[in-house]
Amino acid sequence: MALERTLSIIKPDAVAKNVIGEIYARFEKAGLKIVAGRMKQLSRLEAEGFYAVHRERPFFKALVEFMISGPVMIQVLEGENAVLAHRDLMGATNPKEAAPGTIRADFADSIDANAVHGSDAVETAKVEISYFFAATDVLSR
Ligand code: GDP
Ligand code: MG
Repeated sequence: MALERTLSIIKPDAVAKNVIGEIYARFEKAGLKIVAGRMKQLSRLEAEGFYAVHRERPFFKALVEFMISGPVMIQVLEGENAVLAHRDLMGATNPKEAAPGTIRADFADSIDANAVHGSDAVETAKVEISYFFAATDVLSR
């Protein structure tokens, strides 16, 4: 087992649905600790930079528009195998394919508005965490 950190974003649709607390409870019940967090209105440049790996994909423009459509809640989660544990809680990218009881199955409406983001690997997580947080903002305990 490995103690890992991962980046989680509660996207504008889920913030608008007022389910930040319900999603946080799922993280905590699964043994993940919230070790940094902030609410933020992303600028277009910030959203484009964060999703730069998807820049050539047909859905890129729609993804950026969605991510800047309202505030997001961004957090760092820490725990054993946090990257995969968090992806398991999230469910599949397309909520229609997400397993029952996952965050996306319960709170997401479509593949565009799919409630949450989670890093897909430890190395990606390091880059994504440093995109939003200084090392001193992450308070392991
Ligand atoms: P994730 O890691 O499960 O979030 O999925 P990806 O990294 O593959 O894609 C990033 C985000 O782009 C997803 O969470 C969706 O919001 C969006 N996205 C991915 N695939 C599609 C698609 O086929 N159509 C649209 N409209 N959005 C997509
Ligand atoms: Mg991804």
